[in-house]
Amino acid sequence: MVEDRRSLFVTGLKNAHAMENQALSIIKPQLKRIENYPQVATRLETHLQETEAQITRLEDILASLDEDNSTLKDWMLSAGGSMAAIGHSMADDEILKNSFANFAFENFEIAAYNSLITMAELGGFQGAVAGLQQNLAEEKDMARWLEDNLREVTTEFVMRREAGESAKV
Ligand code: MG
Ligand code: FE
Repeated sequence: MVEDRRSLFVTGLKNAHAMENQALSIIKPQLKRIENYPQVATRLETHLQETEAQITRLEDILASLDEDNSTLKDWMLSAGGSMAAIGHSMADDEILKNSFANFAFENFEIAAYNSLITMAELGGFQGAVAGLQQNLAEEKDMARWLEDNLREVTTEFVMRREAGESAKV
């Protein structure tokens, strides 16, 4: 029973690690392209740095469970999923579609960390809970920011379109 809960938790941690690498691959191309929405760029840059720290936190938890790093690398290589955000580049409403996709992704992360925290508690891995809760809190902050900012981004998008300016990111 204890072994089972442990391996389920370790698998969950590796999935979260892959998810965070996917987060990097979603955020980085957006940062390269954004010109007209500096508030989005600033927040994404902050979350990029948070995401890198989240990855380190997950690696520390895995290390504390004596999990081999080579297993982690294999896992990372198989984590090549493409999120909707990437496919939206060049769409004339790219900034909006990326806003929706980012919000969806943050909520995916929120669910993943809530589930992982439950697994940590079920397996008695109390030492992992604080770090996972910090990751969760950052995802919640990001989701809330995206939700709050949607009105502003949409308004800017409409104004740009209306003025005949580039509606691009
Ligand atoms: Mg994250
Ligand atoms: Fe996130």
